[in-house]
Amino acid sequence: MERTLVILKPSALQRRLVGEILSRFEKKGFILCGMKMMQLDEQILDEHYAHLVGKAFYPRIKKSMMKAPVVVCCLQGVNAIPVVHAMAGVTNGRNAAPGTIRGDFSMSVQENVIHTSDSAKTAQEEINRFFAPEELFDYDIATLHFLYSDDEVEMKE
Ligand code: ADP
Repeated sequence: MERTLVILKPSALQRRLVGEILSRFEKKGFILCGMKMMQLDEQILDEHYAHLVGKAFYPRIKKSMMKAPVVVCCLQGVNAIPVVHAMAGVTNGRNAAPGTIRGDFSMSVQENVIHTSDSAKTAQEEINRFFAPEELFDYDIATLHFLYSDDEVEMKE
């Protein structure tokens, strides 16, 4: 099964949306393999947002992401990366489809409450960036065969 990274941004904590957003992922059927609260700093943000460092709005994003702690989570499931990414919705909360997290909880491009990995490569890099190996857990899920068929559980992705 695939693992992906979710960051509940400072806006999610300030707006008391942590429980509501996590509840969506739990109810969907994702397995929580890691979760912690962190205060992000410039170094980790420059790595995480390396593709945006040259943009004029980057200093604003960085400031916003350091305004309060974040909650980082590692979620596991079949095809977890695209499914979690789709549940978040497109970057601009005003354009995100109703029913997505950004579509339901954000009116902003910048203050869009959540980050999710967008590919297998970034998921692996981001999980390694935010979690030490001993902070991730692999445990028996008693309900696994009520979440998936037997052939789906055997799927590597
Ligand atoms: P996503 O988070 O949807 O993968 P990006 O990787 O392009 O999107 O951008 C990372 C984050 O930077 C966005 O989630 C958003 O918070 C912020 N951001 C992106 N574009 C802008 C912009 N034009 N103005 C302000 N903030 C932006």
